Amino acid sequence: MATESKIYHGHCYCGAVSFSAKDVSDIWYCHCKQCQHLTGLYIAAAGAKREDITIKGDVNWLPISEKSTSGHCAACGSYMFWNEAARPTISILAGSFADTNGLEVKGHIFVAEKGDYYEITDGLPQFAAFPPNGTR
Ligand SMILES: [Zn+2]
Ligand SMILES: [Zn+2]
Repeated sequence: MATESKIYHGHCYCGAVSFSAKDVSDIWYCHCKQCQHLTGLYIAAAGAKREDITIKGDVNWLPISEKSTSGHCAACGSYMFWNEAARPTISILAGSFADTNGLEVKGHIFVAEKGDYYEITDGLPQFAAFPPNGTR
């Protein structure tokens, strides 16, 4: 947990969707196929408990797998959130944050699904899928 008390704010590209979140976790790079298809590459995302996030505006929650949905601004299409009902947190894409001061990048997840056209060279920890409990 980066900063227990800080409230983070953010918005989509056009500003129609905004959010605030507290107790935001640090940032992970996710190399899974879902993120590759949605963005063309991997994503950077932090997370917060569902009850600690307040979202304003019209979000399109699209089923991206049997278990998960991706949340996009209904007006500009910005990919902002990733949600799986069985998990207590919602992932918030780092690019949506107005300010990431205090958030650290922890490493790479789902590297088993990474594209073979790029290499990970930053030396941060890598995990085949989700990191083990306690690492986040
Ligand atoms: Zn928008
Ligand atoms: Zn992913």
